[in-house]
Amino acid sequence: MSFTRSSWISCIAAGLLTACTSQGMPESSSHGLPGSNPLFSEVFTADPAPMVHDGRVYLYVGHDEAGTDQMFNITEWLVFSSDDMRHWTAHGPVMKPTDFAWASRDAWASEVEEKDGRFYLYATVEHDSTDPGKAIGVAVSDSPTGPFVDARGSALIRNSMTKMAAHSWDDIDPTVFQDDDGTAWLYWGNQILYYAKLAPNMIELDGPIQTLDLAPYEEGPWIHKHDGTYYLMYAAIDRSVSDNEQIHYATAPSITGPWTLRGMLTGPGENSFTIHPGTVEFEGQWYFFYHDASQSIDGLEGAIGRRSVRVEYLYHNADGTLQMVAQTPEGISIPPRLSSNP
Ligand code: CA
Repeated sequence: MSFTRSSWISCIAAGLLTACTSQGMPESSSHGLPGSNPLFSEVFTADPAPMVHDGRVYLYVGHDEAGTDQMFNITEWLVFSSDDMRHWTAHGPVMKPTDFAWASRDAWASEVEEKDGRFYLYATVEHDSTDPGKAIGVAVSDSPTGPFVDARGSALIRNSMTKMAAHSWDDIDPTVFQDDDGTAWLYWGNQILYYAKLAPNMIELDGPIQTLDLAPYEEGPWIHKHDGTYYLMYAAIDRSVSDNEQIHYATAPSITGPWTLRGMLTGPGENSFTIHPGTVEFEGQWYFFYHDASQSIDGLEGAIGRRSVRVEYLYHNADGTLQMVAQTPEGISIPPRLSSNP
């Protein structure tokens, strides 16, 4: 967007820099235009996972509730839905970690996948003392808005099943990719990127746990396919850029690789150590969801455990790469470009 120097100054003077529109005038709030960022101003939200079903986009998030003395306090997963990507309906919580009888707390990153009319929620939680550390559960529902119930009665991935990391929270951030032939793959991991084939029932592994080296991988994988190319995004830490996470990506001609590192897609989220990608194609347009911690709600400032979900357009280049994503206040309240060319 183009700002004049005077409009920038008036925005800054108004203390509403993030609320300035492309006309350079401050809005009454940063949520004045549907599709502007951040998307939700009533609650803190993190780790966005979008899914399209029956003409609607469903967006699953963790409900950040950290107090001023807490790093994280995430007690439930929420879902929002929209039929135009700009006006969202809040459906409330779909599940909480203790709905898994074997889990104790921590509604960390999740994702929902549909198969054969049922919806599978893959979610990070803290396992109970029988296998301490983070674990991945899978729950199922007949509706995208839940409620979801444990599909197994046990964790799909427990900390003791993976031993490459020296810490107990390596088994986080599940993402499931279903290929055109119906094969489903589970990717996850902090510092180590693990993956395994899922069984057709979507609730068991169907092969060994393998690893993928995509340095500087940190966490938060997300996969999509476009025009025959596979895109694997992830949160990375390149300290020459920032000590806060950035989004990097890799591409491959098949889900089993070989993967080519493509570098940074977008830089750190404002005021946020973490960032987390989620992409979706809806009515012919691609979107990139992420979070930062720039928003204050009810006097509580954004923080590592008080994040806000945002969205931007995502553009694929003809050569199979992606265009860098700029993190903007206007988000998708403005029309997408008609051409993929910058
Ligand atoms: Ca482990």
